[in-house]
Amino acid sequence: FQGTSLAVLGQPVRHSISPQMHNAALAELAAKHPQLSAWKYFRFEIAPEQLLESLPLFHAKGFQGLNLTVPHKEIAFPAVSQIDPEAQPIGAVNTLRRLDDGWAGYNTDGYGLAQGIERELQREIQNSDLVLLGAGGAARAAAIQALQSRCQSLTIVNRNQERLGKLVSELQPIAAAANIPLHPLSPQDIDTLPAGCLLVNATSLGLKQDDPTPIPEDKLPLNACCYDMIYNPPTTRLMNLVSQNGGIVANGLSMLVHQGAKSLSIWTETDAPAETMQKAAEQAMA
Ligand code: NDP
Repeated sequence: FQGTSLAVLGQPVRHSISPQMHNAALAELAAKHPQLSAWKYFRFEIAPEQLLESLPLFHAKGFQGLNLTVPHKEIAFPAVSQIDPEAQPIGAVNTLRRLDDGWAGYNTDGYGLAQGIERELQREIQNSDLVLLGAGGAARAAAIQALQSRCQSLTIVNRNQERLGKLVSELQPIAAAANIPLHPLSPQDIDTLPAGCLLVNATSLGLKQDDPTPIPEDKLPLNACCYDMIYNPPTTRLMNLVSQNGGIVANGLSMLVHQGAKSLSIWTETDAPAETMQKAAEQAMA
């Protein structure tokens, strides 16, 4: 790890295309910023029970920044020295920036989602009726982003009602302060979802080709804009059915790209070349 190093830590992490994305961007940035020519991005498989002891070791080795992926985002949150105010209500960090005596934590997932929706669906979260499927870590970041971006209403649908209730009770004060209606629902209790809503899949249903849709197929809204956070496979059953119902769809690759671009901007204090990262991500997926 000679030179200045960055890395993604996760388990599993072998599938991660972050090294290809970031190294393509670093090569481009180095032309304009010679001080970045020694920077390189790696990936490390780290077990969750070893994460907290590994963070000081990466610091001692001189790493400038880390990305955290499943299952580390929540585990690291209480262990970092500083938390970015935007990451505070999410309770999870996906980006660590080196400080003299530890790490500063950020969460760039919500930003990545908002950018992905704007660029791929030409749609703003602001004033949208947002229907969020899922109540896990990615859904939490999406929900906070939706409220901060002043969606018109937020409906959250999840299978596990206890998990859904906990998320909604944490979101309620933020939603109430912004005067945004917040509706928790179980998939079976859906009556009709607003036509033309912004439907965001933050469940892991769709990762396998034969997975069912996260909500009953006859409850899918008409003419929706659907952003599925899944990007491998590139098309899910949910995306296919929303298209058949007159909607437009995008997969989660652009979210991955833009959360990564924001992380790189935080570490390097430059504008990260998101287009180069998008091309590298598409190539890596191909
Ligand atoms: P979590 O494990 O924290 O949450 C998983 C969610 O999926 C929960 O809401 C869970 O519901 C739901 N779920 C899982 N299995 C089922 C099932 N059989 N039936 C119904 N619901 C189910 O995962 P994350 O939040 O970290 O990730 C969620 C998805 O988002 C993943 O597919 C991940 O790949 C993707 N993602 C994409 C990113 C990107 O950059 N594009 C970034 C981060 C995540 P329940 O509570 O009922 O179990």
